[in-house]
Amino acid sequence: MNQEELLQKDKELISEGLKLRFHPITVKEAKGCYITDTNDQRYLDLTAGWAVANVGYGRESIAKVIHDQYVKLSFTTQLSAPSETMIQLADKLVEIVPGNFEKKVWFGHSGSDANDLISKFLPVSTGRNKMISFIGSYHGQTMGASSLSGHSAQAKFEGKGNVVKIPYPNVYRPFSGISDNLTEQTMHFLEEVFATICPAEDTAGVIIEAIQSDGGIVLPPEQFLKELREICDRHGIYLIVDEVKVGMGRTGKWFSFEHTGIIPDAVVLGKSLGAGLPISAVVGRKEILDTVAAGHMFTTSGNPISTSAAIENIRIIKEENLIENADKQGNLFLTGLHKLKEKYECIGDVRGKGLSIGVEIVTDRDSKKPDAIKTAALCYHCYEIGLLIYNVGIYGNVLEITPPLSITTDEVNEALSFLDQAFQDIENGNFQLEKLKEYAGWG
Ligand code: PMP
Repeated sequence: MNQEELLQKDKELISEGLKLRFHPITVKEAKGCYITDTNDQRYLDLTAGWAVANVGYGRESIAKVIHDQYVKLSFTTQLSAPSETMIQLADKLVEIVPGNFEKKVWFGHSGSDANDLISKFLPVSTGRNKMISFIGSYHGQTMGASSLSGHSAQAKFEGKGNVVKIPYPNVYRPFSGISDNLTEQTMHFLEEVFATICPAEDTAGVIIEAIQSDGGIVLPPEQFLKELREICDRHGIYLIVDEVKVGMGRTGKWFSFEHTGIIPDAVVLGKSLGAGLPISAVVGRKEILDTVAAGHMFTTSGNPISTSAAIENIRIIKEENLIENADKQGNLFLTGLHKLKEKYECIGDVRGKGLSIGVEIVTDRDSKKPDAIKTAALCYHCYEIGLLIYNVGIYGNVLEITPPLSITTDEVNEALSFLDQAFQDIENGNFQLEKLKEYAGWG
């Protein structure tokens, strides 16, 4: 089938529940930072498939490990007869996840099932029924993870009623309209929540992304996580950090919370952990992970193929110094994007850490009104000229830059010139909005 036929079949056969589309392509192959579609068009990829391909696409050494593992031991259910690869991976994870306490590891398949563990286990473990999370957060789509989320993606689902959502301290769009003392304001909000609808003594845990990614690459003020850790400690509340999207080296450290100096009670991992193979993990305090024996397990959890790929993935990140590269190339990107901001009025804000970067698009800088249509147009036009980029954010107006951590300086410069051209074309009206309207099915 050619690409047009495939896309037609995709329309007919694939559930809309599984789609979040930006460009009319089917992907044939990918290598490094480049993707090739079924029509043999090549694109520089700034998505890493929603931050999964941290080590880049098509790694020979990972392919070899998967092949050899499959031939040696294609499967064993880790629930009843564990393999050495699962235990070896757990050993590596307790080593790289900070925390000077007795840790255990749980394995699943997606960020969602891992966050579901948090939703199920914390109330049982503490005997406290309530949880706190943040508006704009994305923790997944299974019922527990969806209930913890504060993103518009979950707005149609009722969810579990025990989660109270508080504002995330967004310096560019502060919830009170005032960005001064935003940490203090959020803490004050939290104290009021404790005094009213969610008593601290009934609160099992707080779950947070140290950088909100699907929420729009929002970085809280520097002191925020420290203060949050302190308030949790004061009330005996667990603090859980969801590193599914920004972990595994993306921000210039193994985990994004490491920039803040805090130690979470449990860390949630997924996406890039398996370099494309389905695997997630929760690494945290023994008493959390041991809450309910046989209480959150899936037949193929921690399977030998995914765990062996994850071990090789960690080796590559370490040996190729990809964490340092994320920091270096991220700074280069930020410098280039700030220059674009000087040139294009529609760029309201540029922010990020390492290779987790957001470019917020607004109608004008004074009103900061989110311009979701222009953002979609930029994504679409980037695709037309050879660059893949998605948009995120609670208003859908943030271009998200999360390329493989193996990206080179030349590729960063190439991406920046694509972006420059896309902004220029959109500003000059060299873009047919009709095409996007037709593709997106806008009336
Ligand atoms: N947590 C975070 C922070 C995420 O960004 C995502 C996915 N975007 C998830 C959890 C859910 O992961 P998955 O799609 O693998 O279930």
